[in-house]
Amino acid sequence: METIFTERHKLRNSKTELHGGEFVEPFERPSRAEYIIGRVRDVGLGSISEPDDFGLDPIRAIHDKGFIDFLQVAWDEWQSEGFKGEALPTVWPARRMTQRIPTHIEGRLGYYALACETTISDGTWEASFASAQVALTGAQRLNDGAKAVFSLCRPPGHHAAIDMYGGYCFINNAAVAAQHFLDTGSKRVAILDVDFHHGNGTQDIFYERDDVLFISLHGDPLEAFPHFLGHADEMGIGVGKGYTVNYPMPPGTDFPTWRAALIKALAKIAEYAPDVLIISLGVDTFETDPISFFKLKSDDFTTYGADIGSLHLPTLFVMEGGYDIAEIGVNTVNVLQGFESVS
Ligand SMILES: [Zn+2]
Repeated sequence: METIFTERHKLRNSKTELHGGEFVEPFERPSRAEYIIGRVRDVGLGSISEPDDFGLDPIRAIHDKGFIDFLQVAWDEWQSEGFKGEALPTVWPARRMTQRIPTHIEGRLGYYALACETTISDGTWEASFASAQVALTGAQRLNDGAKAVFSLCRPPGHHAAIDMYGGYCFINNAAVAAQHFLDTGSKRVAILDVDFHHGNGTQDIFYERDDVLFISLHGDPLEAFPHFLGHADEMGIGVGKGYTVNYPMPPGTDFPTWRAALIKALAKIAEYAPDVLIISLGVDTFETDPISFFKLKSDDFTTYGADIGSLHLPTLFVMEGGYDIAEIGVNTVNVLQGFESVS
């Protein structure tokens, strides 16, 4: 399986995350991608290629124009205010307040952020743009005939909504790839999100559409980030009704329970018969992940990779989360090798 990867991910190297009332080194850090690409090389998964440049249009096809404009200038505007730390919001358009977009950077951060653990720092936009190109290049490889491709995206994307960033995500890489497939001939795309956290951004983007089936397995939002989306009764609206499927699961969920939900999800995908399948691949379901509460072991990733492979669909793996960094390479590549073992 070919891997698409660029060293430009290192441009996203923020120094602070707000966690437990303290500023800590971000869980989402450059070494994550280094461990993954190292494992890809160690096992000889396949060739490793730089992304092509598809420009801004595929990103604007998914995200709000004002939001993308904001991401490009946020760091410069923040700096020009003379602030010493990295950019993060302190106020939101909460219940019964207006949704008018402020002019001051402090207000615009609050308008476009869905959470404040994730700072904007120097290079954030450049790395996010490159990450989207990694996803787009993987998608184009499938269009060109590849059966499966691994887009090693960083920063991740599945929390990024139409006009909101947060949860370490700025551009929704999986959604951008899905739209690229639709714009180049696919009629139906399925996105299966196996990251520990609900893919609220992807759900938001496709919630009123029937050309993308979105299924997410994740920690119950009553107990886990992003806390305000991902319940089982969210199923899409309008023509999109039935094209969003959520499987929230409680703290301590083990692999047999998680896999039972996966098998249901795969049956729905098989019934939908998509032209292509995108996997939002987060491995923060691992038992020792520091910010999650599922109990998957390393071998379980191989097993479920094979489960996904048994669908025999053209498949694009898009990297999302995973924060037990020492094991992230093994767990991620286990999924890919499991997939290949049956294809
Ligand atoms: Zn996650």
